[in-house]
Amino acid sequence: YLEIIDEVPDIREAPDAINLPSVRGDIHYKNITFGYEGHANVLSNVSFSIRAGETVAFVGPSGAGKSTICSLLPRFYDPGQGVITLDGIDIKDLSLNCLRTNIGVVQQDVFLFSGTLRDNIAYGMLNAGEAEIWEAARRARIDDFIRSQPDGLDTVIGERGVKLSGGQKQRVAIARMFLKNPPILILDEATSALDTETELLIQQSLDELSKGRTTLIIAHRLATIKNADRIIVVTDKGISEQGHHNELVTGNGLYSRLYTAQFRS
Ligand code: ADP
Ligand code: MG
Repeated sequence: YLEIIDEVPDIREAPDAINLPSVRGDIHYKNITFGYEGHANVLSNVSFSIRAGETVAFVGPSGAGKSTICSLLPRFYDPGQGVITLDGIDIKDLSLNCLRTNIGVVQQDVFLFSGTLRDNIAYGMLNAGEAEIWEAARRARIDDFIRSQPDGLDTVIGERGVKLSGGQKQRVAIARMFLKNPPILILDEATSALDTETELLIQQSLDELSKGRTTLIIAHRLATIKNADRIIVVTDKGISEQGHHNELVTGNGLYSRLYTAQFRS
């Protein structure tokens, strides 16, 4: 379930692609339709907006399309129909490098390059325009950060990814995102592989990091997303409701049923 990619991916750029000097993080999905090969109609006519700095949580049954929605923003996939804009620009007109430098992604399945965990983190920083910083300085910064972590991440930082547990890999992906420091965050079950104690510690620092940044978050435990600026409920029929926790929990939609069910258990 956790894979190691052998080589650093080739980030190809369209010749006329735009590099934005600084990204605010205003996002619009307009009439998005998407299906996978052999799995049509995952998303049909999905539209929503996220304001710069807003934290939006996607909630709904497993298989509804939450991860798919999030993976269209860094262009892991492109929609069949519809347009996604970032700061008003069609993301297809932005360079992939620009998009992926500005979007930090931690998913349930973590992809690491071969090489040590330190190499994996260093690559994320290179990507974020830190190529001119001395290799040694970059490594010192990584090691300082890793040593500051509450859960002993420093004991594995020189290891190669293959040897590690899913939870350790997920910790590396989270550390990579912190040091990359992007304005837009996608946290797709970002702490799902961590033990409960580590999860609580890391969840706090993720909440801190997401303040003021445009954040798309998917979490199973609804308690972790209660404080999101907005919750978007996704079902296999599309977006069924959206609003703040306090509004949705008192309604009679899917969210209040899901929340009541989790609260009881
Ligand atoms: P969620 O994150 O809400 O659980 P996903 O976005 O992961 O849902 O998946 C939506 C639907 O698309 C599911 O039915 C899933 O089986 C299917 N799906 C997801 N990824 C792929 C893929 N790479 N190829 C084919 N089908 C996929
Ligand atoms: Mg998912």
